[in-house]
Amino acid sequence: MHELGLAFHVMDTVEEIAKEQELKKVGSVTLEIGQVSGVIFDYLSDVWDWAAAKKELFAGSRLKCEEIHAITYCRNCGKTYDTVPQGRECPYCHSPETELVTGNEFLIKEIEAY
Ligand SMILES: [Zn+2]
Repeated sequence: MHELGLAFHVMDTVEEIAKEQELKKVGSVTLEIGQVSGVIFDYLSDVWDWAAAKKELFAGSRLKCEEIHAITYCRNCGKTYDTVPQGRECPYCHSPETELVTGNEFLIKEIEAY
């Protein structure tokens, strides 16, 4: 259900832009999704196809995704590392004082429309 809300949120945003720029048809929308954002793109894409078929502006459009790699910064030793294999604990100094630098994104990167 999370993905359904996100799909509608993206469609609302694109709809507003389309209205402003007098675009009639959306070809594709490219999203940037962080590796640890919790968004499952396959679900989102399925929901998109289902919802897009009901709207004139989006009928036949495709949802694309660019994954953003997750990087974590360690406040204790100042190093950065790959979040996914290592988790929240710094692999260099084993400090839990870390913060996510990238990887939690959910953004509209590009809209193809005419
Ligand atoms: Zn560290």
